[in-house]
Amino acid sequence: MWRFWSGVVTHGLRLRLMMCLCVPAISPGFVNADTIFSNNETSLHDIEIYGFDYDYTLAFYSKHLHTLIFNIARDILISKHRYPEGLQEYEYIPNFAVRGLHYDVQKALLMKIDAFHYIQLGTVYRGLHPVPDEEVIAMYEGCHVPLEIMSDFYGKSSHGHSMKQFMDIFSLPEMNLLSCVNDFFMRHNIDYEPVHLYKDVKEAIRDVHVKGIMYRAVDADIEKYICYGEQSHAVLKKLSEHGKKMFLITNSPFAFVNRGMSYIVGEDWRDLFDIVIVQADKPSFFNDRRKPFRRVTDKGALLWDRIHKLEKGQIYKQGNLYEFLRLTGWRGSKVLYFGDHIYSDLADLTLRHGWRTGAIIPELRKEIKIMNTQAYAQMSSWLQALTGLIEDMQIHRDPASEAVVAEWIKEREAMRPQTKSFFNAQFGSLFRTYQNPTYFSRRLSRFADIYMASISCLLNYDLKHTFFPRRTPLQHEAPLQHVQRPPGLSVPHPRPQDQSTD
Ligand SMILES: [Mg+2]
Repeated sequence: MWRFWSGVVTHGLRLRLMMCLCVPAISPGFVNADTIFSNNETSLHDIEIYGFDYDYTLAFYSKHLHTLIFNIARDILISKHRYPEGLQEYEYIPNFAVRGLHYDVQKALLMKIDAFHYIQLGTVYRGLHPVPDEEVIAMYEGCHVPLEIMSDFYGKSSHGHSMKQFMDIFSLPEMNLLSCVNDFFMRHNIDYEPVHLYKDVKEAIRDVHVKGIMYRAVDADIEKYICYGEQSHAVLKKLSEHGKKMFLITNSPFAFVNRGMSYIVGEDWRDLFDIVIVQADKPSFFNDRRKPFRRVTDKGALLWDRIHKLEKGQIYKQGNLYEFLRLTGWRGSKVLYFGDHIYSDLADLTLRHGWRTGAIIPELRKEIKIMNTQAYAQMSSWLQALTGLIEDMQIHRDPASEAVVAEWIKEREAMRPQTKSFFNAQFGSLFRTYQNPTYFSRRLSRFADIYMASISCLLNYDLKHTFFPRRTPLQHEAPLQHVQRPPGLSVPHPRPQDQSTD
């Protein structure tokens, strides 16, 4: 950190540097992980109806579930798709990937992309190993990924788009498996078609869900896979006691949801909900008018009668939001819906239907814990100060000053990967790509009015609370200080929206 002291430092630069060192360090413990964060002003006072997704919104799963999905899908690849037996040697790697990454289906590369469609160098992986920066730049003719090859609105790689974005928490084992199989083929010099591999892995993962293999495994050992949700129960009870209407819209089947909710909340969990919809097929539930609701018995039998109202105590399958709105009248900003999938759960509601949206981002808890450590706070603070110094001092063109600034630039470049590895050695933070927000962050701020680590954060607020987004200055609202101050008095300062996390 202090290497530049040994360099040539002019008197003016010395003065500015000393002033820079007065920038207070961010004190540890400054963010409470139980906070509800707001992108858009939201008053709970206005909310009469609360809706929930199920998986990773009301039900949280232990680390064992990803291992289970990985193992089953790997075995399906071997048994059904005739992939080499040698894949058995791979196990799920818990901290390999983070949510929100992109995968180039044709090049078989996993990578992190920022809000401006730039690939973050150092985060491009082929199999389990990083691709050198020069190779990435040569392949993409720079770092920018054009819109035509980015995934579609829902993160999918359909319609000729070769990039797929992994937004689902369930996709962590899928990224892992793709990387492991790529690694196996490369290590054994096997020529393969990456597009086939992507489709086979996708199908194997889908089979784990659709064929009920995961549901049966969770059912057989519920304590191993579902984290007991005492606080989810407390939230639902609190809302019910305040006379709020509640509903559930999930893609999972009734038997699976019933088993989990009975474990988390109790056998009488359905008393808390006014409407329960299972196998909804989100996101098409929100934009396809054609699918009617169908009643399901407790035993899972489908009834044929036409649905004229959605009743408490009944279970409905599929349907669509337009019909839901017609039958309930639950429209606009008196409804708040919580989900963990920013596209499937929240995007259409925000863009088309005007419900308020709450994103559940479990990764927040771990990232905030890291941000609150002394080591991270110091590094982040110093990185911001150093960036400010470079920005202010670059106007000095004498050789001695240029030499010092060059040293600082070098030091900044060396520090940035270190801030990344605080969060994840391969891909860094879910939310930042150096100083820019990630592609994930940008979508989060667009589609979620509020976001939080878990639904339990609601317990910290009364139901008349208003969440105000912090008014962070826009770039033009916080002018550069070297423009405003006489030379020699400029003080580097933290930039708006620039936390310099990775
Ligand atoms: Mg979910």
